[in-house]
Amino acid sequence: MTEALRHLPSVDRLLGSDAGAALTAAHGRLRATEAIREAVASLRKTVLGGEAMPSDPGASVLAAAEASLSRPDPLRPCLNLTGTVLHTNLGRALLPEDAITAATEAMRTAVALEFSLETGGRGERDDHLRGLLCELTGAEDATVVNNNAAAVLLALNTLAAGREAVVSRGELIEIGGAFRIPDIMARAGARLVEVGTTNRTHPKDYRAALGPETGLVMKVHCSNYRIEGFTREVEAPDLKPIAAEAGVPLMNDLGSGSLIDMSRYGLRREPTVAEAVEAGADLVTFSGDKLLGGPQAGFIVGRADLIARINANPMKRAMRLDKIRIAALAAVLRLYRDPDTVMARVPTLRMLSRPKTDIAAQAERLRAPVGVLLAPLGVEVSLCDCDSQVGSGALPTDTLPSSGLRLVAAGGPGGRDPERLAERLRGLPMPVIARISEGAVILDLRTLRDDAQLLAALEDAAP
Ligand SMILES: *Cc1c(COP(=O)(O)O)cnc(C)c1O
Repeated sequence: MTEALRHLPSVDRLLGSDAGAALTAAHGRLRATEAIREAVASLRKTVLGGEAMPSDPGASVLAAAEASLSRPDPLRPCLNLTGTVLHTNLGRALLPEDAITAATEAMRTAVALEFSLETGGRGERDDHLRGLLCELTGAEDATVVNNNAAAVLLALNTLAAGREAVVSRGELIEIGGAFRIPDIMARAGARLVEVGTTNRTHPKDYRAALGPETGLVMKVHCSNYRIEGFTREVEAPDLKPIAAEAGVPLMNDLGSGSLIDMSRYGLRREPTVAEAVEAGADLVTFSGDKLLGGPQAGFIVGRADLIARINANPMKRAMRLDKIRIAALAAVLRLYRDPDTVMARVPTLRMLSRPKTDIAAQAERLRAPVGVLLAPLGVEVSLCDCDSQVGSGALPTDTLPSSGLRLVAAGGPGGRDPERLAERLRGLPMPVIARISEGAVILDLRTLRDDAQLLAALEDAAP
C-alpha cells in the first residue's frame, strides 16, 4: 500500500500540467489548487481504504477536480412542486414582478434612501415604508427590520428588558430553527412570566400575573400547531383592557400576518393585521415573506410612542434593511392598495387562491408530454389529486385541494425507488423539487406558473 501511495501525484506537478493550467485559467489559481488538493486527499483515502490506484492517477485526480469545480451552483433557480407554497427551505415567497423591477433598479443606481430630495438634508430610511404600512394596517406608526424574529426580539428588548413579559403557556411556541419564545425573551433580557395552562388560559390568570415589574403583555400566534378540544384563550380584544389597567402595552405577534382576509379562498379565517391593530394591540409584529408575499422582513406596527422607543434602541441599527429590500417591499405594499388586482399580482396570493379546476386542467395538459420526457427513465406518469399547504408555519392544519402528476418509477435506469427518482429530479440543471407519497413522486402543480417551465426542466431528465 505504501508502495501504491508513492504513485500519488503531487499537487504542484498537476497544477503545472496543461490540464492543470486550464483549470487555473477557468476557475482561478486558488480554487484550482484547492480542488486538486482535495482530489489528491480523497484518492489517498480510497487507496488506504483498500482500493486499487488508478492506472493514470494524475488524470483521475484532474478529472475529479474538474468535476467538483464545475458543479452547478446550488443556489440556481429550481421549481418548487412540493405543494408547500411558502417553503422556508426553498426561500419562501416568490416576489411580484413590480418588486423585482424595483429591487433591480435600486441595485443598479443610487437612491435617496436616507436623503431628502426636498431639502438635500438627511432623510429617514423607514419613511419609504412607514406611510404605506400605516395606510394598509390603520396603525399610527411602523418600523421595519430584517425578519419577524428580529422584530419580536427588538420589541421585547425595548419594552421589557429587566422587566417581566407575560405570556400564556399555550403560546410558548417554537418556530423551526432556534426561534423559541422563552429563548428569545431571555436574549431580549426580559423575564418570562407564564400564565394559565397549556390548553386553557383565562383573563384572571393574566390579572394575577400583572404587577409593578411587568413591562409587557405578549400574545403569540400559535402559527405551526393547534390545540383542539377543551381549550380557552384570551383573545386580543379582551386582553387589551387587562394590559391597559396595569398600564403596560399589549404586543401581538401575528407571525404570518395577512393584509387581506384569505377565508374567501378556502383558508381558515384569521384576523388581518388591520383587525389586530383595530382590536387594540399596542404593537403588532408580522413577517414580510410569509402570507404577505414579499422579501424577508419583519414589521412592527402600532403606537407611535412605542415605535419611537423601538427606533431609538441601538439594536435597531443592527437589524435594519438595505435599499434593495426596502425598494422591493414598497413595491409589494403598493400592490395591496388595489384589492381588485392584488390577488393576481402577488404570486403567493395567486398560488394560494388558484382553483383546483385550473390546476387539474394544467395536470391534464402536462401528463402526456411529461410522460414522453420521463419514459426513457422507466417512469409512468398519471394524474392525481393532492393537498397543498401554505407553509412557513402559517395555518399548518389547513390544506388546499390541488392536482398534480404522480410519477412511479417502474424499473428502468433509476430502478423502482421513488427516492432515487426524486434525487434525479433534484439533480437536474433546473432542479425539480417534488414530494414523495405512498411510493410515488408527486409533482403538485399549484405552484407551477407555466407549463413550459416544467417541460424545459424535464428535457434534461433522460440519461
Ligand atoms: C414565522 C414566525 C416568526 C418568525 O418570523 P420570521 O419572519 O421567519 O423571522 C415569529 N413569530 C411567529 C408567531 C411566526 O409564525
